[in-house]
Amino acid sequence: MFYCEQDLLTNLIVLSPSNARKQFRIQIFEEWDWACAYCGKELTCNTATIDHIVPKSKGGHNVKSNMCCCCSSCNREKGSDQLEDWYQIDNDNYCEKRLGKIKTWMDVKSTSFKITSIDSSKPVVANEFTVGWLST
Ligand SMILES: [Zn+2]
Repeated sequence: MFYCEQDLLTNLIVLSPSNARKQFRIQIFEEWDWACAYCGKELTCNTATIDHIVPKSKGGHNVKSNMCCCCSSCNREKGSDQLEDWYQIDNDNYCEKRLGKIKTWMDVKSTSFKITSIDSSKPVVANEFTVGWLST
């Protein structure tokens, strides 16, 4: 079964249906109250994007604690910068309260969530690392 985080990620890619990935994204958007983590702009399912707080190009993983709800303009602006390099006091959208929320979010090591709209007869792995079908 799963031996390490990498296995979980591999299984996520191989096994999870797009529906599970969609649920995963929506869960993140909901936990951020459909607002951009950086500028606070209100978002919808058409405008919300997922940002990797630690960019994938800098070693950031596809884990929930590294993914936040973000508007497309902040996502584009941040690009592959590290949070602390980009989100500073001279950034027009800087807000100490929001930065605090992002840091708290990143500190959460394990959070679970419910999936309701996919086939309930099939077991699902749902944790900090992944969401997907359990291979039996
Ligand atoms: Zn924004």
